[in-house]
Order: sequence, then C-alpha cells, then structure tokens
Amino acid sequence: MTAKVTVVDHPLVQHKLTLLRRREASTAEFRKLLREIGLFLGYEALRDLPLGKIQIETPVCPMEAPVLAGKKLTFISVLRAGDGLLGPMLDLVPSARVGQIGLARNEETLKPEKYFFKVPKDTSARVNVVLDPMLATGNSAVRAVQEIKDAGALDVRFVCLLAAPEGIKTFTEAHPDVPVVTASIDEKLNEKAYIVPGLGDAGDRIFGTKGV
Ligand code: URA
Repeated sequence: MTAKVTVVDHPLVQHKLTLLRRREASTAEFRKLLREIGLFLGYEALRDLPLGKIQIETPVCPMEAPVLAGKKLTFISVLRAGDGLLGPMLDLVPSARVGQIGLARNEETLKPEKYFFKVPKDTSARVNVVLDPMLATGNSAVRAVQEIKDAGALDVRFVCLLAAPEGIKTFTEAHPDVPVVTASIDEKLNEKAYIVPGLGDAGDRIFGTKGV
C-alpha cells in the first residue's frame, strides 16, 4: 500500500502560508492565519466523508438534501502545537469529539514517550484525524498514530501544516494506510530537526512562548 500524501497547493493557502512563515508575523497574525489554513486542510482531509439524504423544505419546495451520514469524527491533537489546528477543525465539524496525546522526547533513547493520552472510547467506530502542525522527523507522528491504532482506530488521517521530506518518508513507511494532508513539503530538516525553511517552533509561535 502506498500512502496518500496531499499537498494543498491552492493559491489562497500558499499565500497565507507565506504570511504565516514570516519572522515578523505577530502571535495574533500567526494564529489567525493558522486558523484560516487549518480550515482548508480539514476540508481536504474530510473530502471523502459519505453523505446521506434527508427530506427538508426550502421556502420554494420540498427536497431531498445531502447531510453527513458516515462515522462520527474525533480530532486528536498532538500536544501542544496540535491544539492550534483544533479550532478550525471544530469550526468545520462542531460536534466532533476531541482527544489529546502528549509525547515528550526521552533524551537517552531520543524516542518519543507518552505522558498524556485521552481519546474518546469508541475509536474503532470513528474517523480519527490526528493533528500536528509540523511533520519534522516523523517520530512523534508515527508514535501518536500508533497509539490511536492501538486504541482500536481503523480510520486514521493525519493533518499537518508543514512537512519535511524526511518526516513524510518515516511516516508513510510506518503508516502507509494513513493519508496525510499538508500545506507544504519543505526542503529538509536542519541539524536541530527544525524544518527548513519552515516557520520556527510552531508551539512557541501559536502560544507566544518564545524565550519563556
Ligand atoms: N517542530 C517545530 O515546531 N518546528 C520545526 O521546525 C520542527 C518541529
């Protein structure tokens, strides 16, 4: 199986991404742009949701109208930067459940370790969208998705704002069944595992914690 990776190359998304990347973008601007781009990413990640029909009446006549009919949705934020994508996802589907996964790097093994995990119980009956703005090395994304699968999830998708080629490779090799939606696949990782050209530390930029 080959993983499906979608780069949302719509001009509006690419324009907003450029504004967001800028060093001088304020926290408020960054959040606003992330929210706007997040709507487009979510739109793309949920493009295949099945529809049913209900009977309604418009002011003009009765009609059979389309409504979402498939599995319920869970949005799972990989703490803490993933929370930055929760807002736009919940704007799209206000009734979705929310899960959170906390992972921290073990400085000896350099592997991500779980320190928090809370997701709705019926994972196997839901579409689970894992959110993390930065797919850098891919290690924490791989682990987060594995945790969701271990909890029973069958339908998992991954949404990020930026990806590094290294992260895409690691992630798609580990989870070829999980589609990835991103706004850009950047050039590379640097020696500190930051995405280049990237946008810096996504958590700091969302929460305004640089230098804290
Ligand atoms: N996490 C970030 O916040 N930024 C990067 O560039 C890589 C990982």
